[in-house]
Amino acid sequence: MADSVKIDSGAIATANEKPRPEQFDVLIVGAGLSGIGAAYHLQTECAGKSFVILEARNATGGTWDLFRYPGIRSDSDMFTLGYRFRPWREPKAIADGSSILRYIRETASEHGIDRKIRFGHHVTRACWSSEDARWTVEAAGANGEPVQFVCNFLYMCSGYYDYSEGYMPGWLGMERFRGQIVHPQKWPEDLNYSRKRIVVIGSGATAVTLVPAMTGEAAHVTMLQRSPTYIVARPSQDVIANFLRKILPARAAYAVVRWKNVLIGMYFYGLSRRKPDYMKQGILNLVRKELGAEYDVDKHFSPRYNPWDQRLCLVPDSDLFAAIRAGKASIVTDEIETFTERGLRLRSGDELKADIIVTATGLRLKLLGGMQIIVDGKLVDMSRTLGYKGVMFSDIPNLASAFGYTNASWTLKADLTAAYVCRLLNYMDERGFSFCTPRRRDPDIVEEPMVNFTSGYFLRASAMLPKQGSKKPWKLYQNYALDTLSLRLGRVDDGTMEFTPGHSNHAV
Ligand SMILES: Cc1cc2nc3c(=O)[nH]c(=O)nc-3n(C[C@H](O)[C@H](O)[C@H](O)COP(=O)(O)OP(=O)(O)OC[C@H]3O[C@@H](n4cnc5c(N)ncnc54)[C@H](O)[C@@H]3O)c2cc1C
Repeated sequence: MADSVKIDSGAIATANEKPRPEQFDVLIVGAGLSGIGAAYHLQTECAGKSFVILEARNATGGTWDLFRYPGIRSDSDMFTLGYRFRPWREPKAIADGSSILRYIRETASEHGIDRKIRFGHHVTRACWSSEDARWTVEAAGANGEPVQFVCNFLYMCSGYYDYSEGYMPGWLGMERFRGQIVHPQKWPEDLNYSRKRIVVIGSGATAVTLVPAMTGEAAHVTMLQRSPTYIVARPSQDVIANFLRKILPARAAYAVVRWKNVLIGMYFYGLSRRKPDYMKQGILNLVRKELGAEYDVDKHFSPRYNPWDQRLCLVPDSDLFAAIRAGKASIVTDEIETFTERGLRLRSGDELKADIIVTATGLRLKLLGGMQIIVDGKLVDMSRTLGYKGVMFSDIPNLASAFGYTNASWTLKADLTAAYVCRLLNYMDERGFSFCTPRRRDPDIVEEPMVNFTSGYFLRASAMLPKQGSKKPWKLYQNYALDTLSLRLGRVDDGTMEFTPGHSNHAV
């Protein structure tokens, strides 16, 4: 046989042969928080497995590299947004985007994961063959050229939204506006907003981050919202955590604080479900304390829905309230009738003058990185699948997906998912199985929406999302304690997962 040569596409070719796709045991799509975490778990818990990470962009970090708007930060604490296996050591628990990006990149380089990433590889399609017990994964390579890889297990860590653009509702008269319109997902590096009048459209996490962050330079920042969101202030530093770090080893302190924050989060989430009115009044009273009796808290801070029907917005060190108190920022609750040359005309008849309008109107949900899935020649309609333990999908073999919590930090679930995938792979290796497929056997399972959230981006995408079932293991509990039991300790062979024997589970 002629000497094999490695060609740019990642495929192996001999002098006169067609390129043969590179083969791996596991192929991870995405080098964000989840993909780097998944790789760590794989190389520590499934030491013999070969794997590669395909990343569409030319950088690691995903969300934390893409978003560059002023003030970009987490809105959950880093003791739970950080990896279980790597303590968060910085003083701030609510961290800025660049610190999170550094944390992800340091994790990748410390563990040699950065050497496993193929950048500029946008995965477009994956075809499963039960006969060969493998996926053929198609990607567009760095120069747009088609590239193929082969793997036994496909692990999607591609996040949940469209990287190419954010969600932008069309408004009347946008083309008339003489100022600049900016979407936070595509923040211009050189945007000068010094002494400019800014209107931020939106009321979600991005809007409440941007508004106080821009007040430093802008003449005034107005947050224009159609309807309010629950907003809760919290110190950016966790005093208990900072104290425990002084008296305990880093890992021990991290584990204690992580569980403390998990339990506090679960308590308040549970209370919101059981006593929504009580929670609502509690949150609004805190806002009244911040802004005083004169402020119309009911109009601007009292949502139409109950706490945790949508994600709560967190403001560190009351920065949004401080900006409002100082007169540098204000909130307008109204609807846009039309853009004008100089700003916005609202349904109430009021006009808002603006030099820059920021459309903090959210994300466009995208499942599995927009990839097509084909199983034994049939294109899979993901909306007809049921999520299995929030990790796999009915009738799709050897494919897992990292999808975080909606009511707690993303990484809590992504970490559990990675640990479960490793258990599954080891289980199959030990018993000589080459693939596993969640099968929907129980006729009593009732289908429910995957996410019981009323947030716009979930509602807009609900038709394309997989479903969850009314019972275990198809039910999503959005509960770290229950998922820990199920994913770390529960039986792998639970009667729902079908295991298929094969010669070897190793691709290479
Ligand atoms: C502004 C913002 C703030 C947030 N704040 C928080 C927070 O405070 N707490 C929290 O829990 N969650 C937060 N989230 C959710 C956040 O996305 C997750 O916390 C986490 O970063 C997701 O990591 P991920 O690796 O799963 O996905 P991502 O960060 O989205 O990374 C996915 C990676 O996959 C790559 N990819 C996608 N499709 C393909 C493809 N087809 N082929 C190849 N590569 C592909 C992308 O390029 C990207 O690098 C926030 C989200 C946003 C947008």
